[in-house]
Amino acid sequence: MRYAVIVCPKCNKAKGIDTIKKTTTCPCGREIVFARTKFYFETDSPLELAGAVAEANAQLGDGNVPKIAKKPRKRDAYSSISERVRPIRDPVERMRVIASELTEAKGEFGHEDIKRVLTLTGRDTPEDIIAKLQKANLIYEVSEGRFRSV
Ligand SMILES: [Zn+2]
Repeated sequence: MRYAVIVCPKCNKAKGIDTIKKTTTCPCGREIVFARTKFYFETDSPLELAGAVAEANAQLGDGNVPKIAKKPRKRDAYSSISERVRPIRDPVERMRVIASELTEAKGEFGHEDIKRVLTLTGRDTPEDIIAKLQKANLIYEVSEGRFRSV
């Protein structure tokens, strides 16, 4: 994880750090070495980091050791579909699953939807896939550029 929440041993304030660095200097003047510091929370999201620092400082203000709950990540349909299909090796089978998941999630889908899933999965272009799927009779075109899984 890229970012972490630490607590300054001198002033007892929570700080967000970028773990690419090795040390930071707290506004109180104390130099903090990450290798010797407990990470109370780790995340790759700067936004989540900011929230976690605020939460930790609120808990420290109440005299508690910060316990920051990992918030369940809000996932959109595209990322959960891309995760589900990533292990599928056969491109037509993978696309069949993408098409059927998109149909379930959205009713129908277009190139844009497939593109969003594929950007996350990192394979094939939407045009190739739609052509493959139509050829295999796994999807049909409901209107210009809009498709449904059979
Ligand atoms: Zn400090």
